[in-house]
Amino acid sequence: MPTISCKPAILGGTPVRTRPFAPRVTMSQAEQQAVREVLESDVLSAFIGASGKFFNGGRRVTDFEAIWCQRLGFKHAVSVNSWTSGLVTAVGAIGIEPGDEIICPPYTMSASATCCLFYGGIPVFADIDPETFCISAKSIAGRITPRTKAIMVVHLFGHPADMDEIMALARKHNLKVIEDAAQAPGVLYKGRPVGAIGDLGGFSLNFHKHIHTGEGGVIVTNDDDLAHRCRLIRNHGENVVTGDDPAELVNCIGNNYRLTEVQAAIGSAQMSKLDACLSTRAGLAEHLRRRIDKLPGLRAQAHPADGSTHAYYLLPVHFNARQAGLSRHQFVKAVLAELPKPEGFEGTALTEGYVKPLYLSPVYQKRIAIGSKGFPFHLAPAGWPDYSAGSCPVTEHMYQNELLLCPVVREPLTTADMDDVASAMERVLEHAAEISRNVPDSATLFTPVAAAMDTNVR
Ligand SMILES: *Cc1c(COP(=O)(O)O)cnc(C)c1O
Repeated sequence: MPTISCKPAILGGTPVRTRPFAPRVTMSQAEQQAVREVLESDVLSAFIGASGKFFNGGRRVTDFEAIWCQRLGFKHAVSVNSWTSGLVTAVGAIGIEPGDEIICPPYTMSASATCCLFYGGIPVFADIDPETFCISAKSIAGRITPRTKAIMVVHLFGHPADMDEIMALARKHNLKVIEDAAQAPGVLYKGRPVGAIGDLGGFSLNFHKHIHTGEGGVIVTNDDDLAHRCRLIRNHGENVVTGDDPAELVNCIGNNYRLTEVQAAIGSAQMSKLDACLSTRAGLAEHLRRRIDKLPGLRAQAHPADGSTHAYYLLPVHFNARQAGLSRHQFVKAVLAELPKPEGFEGTALTEGYVKPLYLSPVYQKRIAIGSKGFPFHLAPAGWPDYSAGSCPVTEHMYQNELLLCPVVREPLTTADMDDVASAMERVLEHAAEISRNVPDSATLFTPVAAAMDTNVR
């Protein structure tokens, strides 16, 4: 047993650290200069919602899209005003019809599934793999019906999903594959960039993501026809299609999902920081993992092998209460007591679980989404899909018991900061029995990610 050095903060001892973690600083001279140039040009957006030179936007938008293609080898990049818009666009572009089923993971941001509903597609939830936390091919296989049209893959927390198995299933059953790589920009799966391994996919550029434009997103694909359809949906496609080919009309009615020149200019400057961001996070995650993996009851997610990479949007950690000697809730509460009071999500060292499994939310429980009569759910056979509690047991177990997330593996933090986080965990585990006896446990989650994000003000 290590010598009991110091009482844990949650039982009245001195915390490991009180100095706040340095805030993330994302905008530099480069972005400021780029924005200034756009302002001086006075053209904040050049899009026109009709055929012609500006149907696909102005110079900054097209330059920004070209950078994505050059940097990651995609044939097409189509910028949008959010990745939620991008997901809706992708679902429209693959030709989803009302009543079609799309197999989605339940452990993800809500938009990964709600995007289907806008076109009358019905999300069918498949369980996740307990090691990657991404949708599992085995679970997908059990959910395929004659109505299945597509698979939504999410590269959760920045770890790539098992694309070989998923693509094999998709080919066998003639399904489209959309990749939600919001949390995985620049990530490789066996040497190939995620996003367009399937039919199409893309990335989020919201404030919380690796690189951002405030709000924004990018769809990527290697398919000319899908890229064309995405551009129609992004910008009032109804004004541009000829109707000579009726197939071109399917889902072509467009929205306004356009990115501004200002955002595109910021995005181009941000792209030159992506590599540094990814390598900083990989270094911090590696450092923290080495210390975490020595602790009883904790195991950080392994770095992927075989030429795959991880973006470390967050570092997932498996928690075993029996081995640790206290509950997950007590552990998180006690670790946070050792560390500076979080100023928003990015200063939170540890959270319990991720979002609630999506099928447990009211939209799926009550089957009401578009209008009041149950569209599109009423198009499915009675009793299908199964949205009941227990339908994705791995996801529910991760949510309720096993998963911890470390959001602090991010720039501009250092390995010294990671050491403080690890020391806080160590001290808590050294006093596990005492904490377990004296700190109230709770059935409700202490800091699910969404609640921590609510406090994001500065
Ligand atoms: C952030 C995120 C989205 C939504 O992206 P926005 O740009 O905020 O619309 C979708 N899916 C996942 C997995 C995300 O993390």
